[in-house]
Amino acid sequence: MRRASFLSIASGTAAAAVLRPGSAAFAAERARRLVPVNVALENVTRTTVGLRPYRDAGFVLRAEALGAKTVVHNYGHGGGGMSLSWGCAIIASELALQTEKRRAAVLGSGVIGLSMARVLQDRGFDVTIYARDVPPDTTSNKSGAQWSPTSVFSSTDVTDAFRAQYSRAAELAYARYQTLLGDAYGVRWIENYDCRDELARAFLDNPALTPIRHLYPAVHQFGPGEHPFPTRYATRFLTMLIEPNRYLRRLQDDYLERGGRLVVREFHAAADVSALDEPLIVNCTGLGAAALFGDPALEPVRGQLSVLAPQPAVDYITLGPRGYMFPRSDGIVLGGTFEHGATSLLPDEATVSRMVANHRTFFSGMRKT
Ligand SMILES: Cc1cc2nc3c(=O)[nH]c(=O)nc-3n(C[C@H](O)[C@H](O)[C@H](O)COP(=O)(O)OP(=O)(O)OC[C@H]3O[C@@H](n4cnc5c(N)ncnc54)[C@H](O)[C@@H]3O)c2cc1C
Repeated sequence: MRRASFLSIASGTAAAAVLRPGSAAFAAERARRLVPVNVALENVTRTTVGLRPYRDAGFVLRAEALGAKTVVHNYGHGGGGMSLSWGCAIIASELALQTEKRRAAVLGSGVIGLSMARVLQDRGFDVTIYARDVPPDTTSNKSGAQWSPTSVFSSTDVTDAFRAQYSRAAELAYARYQTLLGDAYGVRWIENYDCRDELARAFLDNPALTPIRHLYPAVHQFGPGEHPFPTRYATRFLTMLIEPNRYLRRLQDDYLERGGRLVVREFHAAADVSALDEPLIVNCTGLGAAALFGDPALEPVRGQLSVLAPQPAVDYITLGPRGYMFPRSDGIVLGGTFEHGATSLLPDEATVSRMVANHRTFFSGMRKT
């Protein structure tokens, strides 16, 4: 699925579990009281830019020989790497366990590398991470981050085998994140409201979500007058919300506390990797894998976030054509841009103004309940 600028969700068939207007159960519920977000340009505390490591054919999870070494690849998770991290790490660890090698070099220290390293430690591997950038300077730190493995592949470019692997990774990750709920890791359940005038383009009806639709619980569709938003419809469901900075710091601490080593180092060619001591290499270099291991299918999808000063009373997510709003403890995150092939890491001021203006119009139109 191609997305040029603001979040847009492909249309598709209605998901069976959604309550539709007119049904008895539909009329039985009203949206609870929701505090509107105070959106103003002068409340923006920072704007960040990250490049999602995206492949139309989906992420790469496979093993190959590199001379006498084995390389297990785990990269290319697009807009869903925070969500998929644990699942892909568990599947990659199964590939690693098929070898006799128990000393591993994990390349990369974003969410994929850190989760990979933790899973390998738990399976008895001796692990060293090698990375050019470490938190808070990774793409993973620039994520939203809602538990929602979306914008990960193009529906027309993936095989059935990939779809099965994607679903398994999502299910494994969904289960693992639920063991991390709470302040220590900065992971919590949160209500989402997908607010739009046309049901045909609803978030949950995105065909890419069909195999994992059951991982979005507590769905309810509110019709006109049944919710406070200035749109005809609002579909509520639950996801987890991850606080990337707190979460990645904690993951890194967990890894180091278990005896993991972290070496800051950049690799310029596969030959540098072959020269490492460790017989097993796990490639979690995200976008870096394009140059390091020669994958022309990997492309950046640029995403820009503007963060408003925190508003603790706001305890719900909104999604829709204007983009998304995630209420994190470090600020109210406004995002939802997807620019294929763009590589600039400089914030685009016109996008900041547009994102703020669109959300300001939306939240100032909210009915006070
Ligand atoms: C704006 C935005 C919003 C997002 N929102 C969400 C969301 O809500 N939910 C979600 O699930 N995902 C989200 N994502 C996607 C998610 O951030 C990525 O899928 C994920 O961060 C990829 O993780 P990674 O570890 O592969 O990459 P990175 O975090 O980029 O880590 C790569 C690591 O490899 C290292 N490396 C690369 N090349 C080399 C080299 N040559 N030598 C040595 N080290 C190297 C880097 O230094 C780094 O340590 C979002 C992304 C963006 C940009």
